[in-house]
Order: sequence, then structure tokens, then C-alpha cells
Amino acid sequence: MRLEGKVCIITGAASGIGKAASLLFSKEGATVIACDVSEENLELLRKENPGPGRIDTYVLNVTDREKIDEVIGTVIEKYGKIDVLVNNAGITRDALLLRMKEEDWDAVINVNLKGVFNMTQAVAPVMIKQGKGSIINTSSIVGVFGNIGQTNYSATKAGVIGMTKTWAKELARKGAQIRVNAVAPGFIRTPMTEKVPEKILQALNDKIPLKRMGEPEEVANLYLFLASDESSYITGQVIGIDGGLVI
Ligand code: NAD
Repeated sequence: MRLEGKVCIITGAASGIGKAASLLFSKEGATVIACDVSEENLELLRKENPGPGRIDTYVLNVTDREKIDEVIGTVIEKYGKIDVLVNNAGITRDALLLRMKEEDWDAVINVNLKGVFNMTQAVAPVMIKQGKGSIINTSSIVGVFGNIGQTNYSATKAGVIGMTKTWAKELARKGAQIRVNAVAPGFIRTPMTEKVPEKILQALNDKIPLKRMGEPEEVANLYLFLASDESSYITGQVIGIDGGLVI
């Protein structure tokens, strides 16, 4: 098993890519700390746990710094370490620039950008103490190439890349083996992309060399590689997973 004995926190764990990753990490022997705002979906996730790993669920909003500290405290009390943090939680509130409401800008910045900062600032001291850890941040091809109607979202996903590179340098000081990488998915079939009209999806598929959307399990496989010791010399990278969309 590729994650045997590892304690892995995953945010946005109850749906789409985060759910696929939680189930896969458990199959690979991890103890998964599954965090999400949806209590109902967390309950479903817990029921679906294929084992042999554990899935502990926490209703946690990544914008709530106080609750984050409480959860991290509980995890340390229970397991004494954190090996992996997957900053996967994310939302969209799409609108063209001229129509974007301030509340939609703020909501996306708070979850997708500040949420990643909040979680990492809370977990980093634990990893620094251990001298070891892997942090995986979920960006998007939109953070590198932009997208019409996604001013707020693309800003956060570009920001995630900036933080990834900064933390890869900062957290590796004094010989610590703390790795920080970003994953940049293209179009993946999850509840997030269910909102995209079928006509647009079809046009997108035509532009993708592999001629299809990605599946959440395919992104989960990349998370698994970055979480495991197989990627022990990879840090500060932005790894695309998009069927060739942005070659
Ligand atoms: P999803 O909507 O299926 O899942 C997101 C999960 O995050 C949900 O369970 C939701 O409840 C949770 N969440 C939302 N706000 C939260 C908060 N404040 N605190 C904690 N949890 C919260 O979406 P997905 O497609 O699985 O997306 C996962 C990640 O992948 C996101 O960061 C997204 O931006 C990124 N991404 C997705 C795609 C895609 O095509 N689906 C492409 C590129 C990047």
C-alpha cells in the first residue's frame, strides 16, 4: 500500500475530486481526515469507505481559522502527526468582469485563496516540527491561461501557484523534506462542472486532444503520487492534468 501509516488531511473531501481522493487514499492504507462544509456528503463518504484505511470526517469551512486550529489540534492529539495536506476545496461564482458582484469576488477569494493559506498556515508548524510532509494545492489550467467569466476563480488559481512556489522554497529551509506542489486540472467530470452547459462542454471536448473530460479518479491518482514517497524529489511544481488541452 502506497500510503500505509500516513495521516492525510483533504479539504473539500465530500464531493468530486476530493471524494475520489479520500476513497483512494483509504484504499492505499492512509488515515484520511476528510474536511468539508457538507455534513450530509461527509456522512455518505464515511459509509462508502472501502478501507483498509480510516476516514475521519470533520465539518470544516476552510474560511474558519478558529475551527481549523481546533481540528488540527484534535488530529495531533489523536494521531500525533500530519503527513499530507491536500488543499482541494474550491468554489466557482462565474460572471463576466463587468457583471461580477463584489460578494462573488469575495466568496471565491475567501475559499479558494485564503482557505488554502489558512489550512497551510495551521498545518505547516506541525510539518516543520516533523521535518517532513507533502502539501498538494489544487490550482487549475484557468490559473495559468485565464478563462472568460472567471476573473475571481482564475485570480485564486494563479494565486495558489504563487503560494505553492513560495512555500516550496520557504518550508524546505534547514533541510526539511517538506514538499509543496500544485495540480492544475483541465475539465473534470464533477458536480462543479455539471453547471457548465452541455453545448460548451461539447465544444471543449473537441479541443481536448484526448477528446473527453477527465474523471475525478484520474486526478486522485495524481494526488496519490504527490502524497506518496514516490514523488520524494518533486517540489515547487505545477502539474497539469487536462488530456492535453493546453499543450
Ligand atoms: P466539487 O464541487 O465537486 O467539490 C468541492 C467540494 O468542496 C464540495 O464537497 C464542497 O462542499 C467543498 N467546499 C466548498 N466550499 C468549502 C469550504 N469553504 N470549506 C470546505 N469545503 C468546501 O468540485 P471539484 O470539481 O471536485 O473541485 C475540487 C477542486 O478541483 C477545486 O479546488 C476546483 O477548483 C478544482 N478544479 C476542478 C476542476 C473541474 O473541472 N472539476 C478543474 C480545475 C480545478
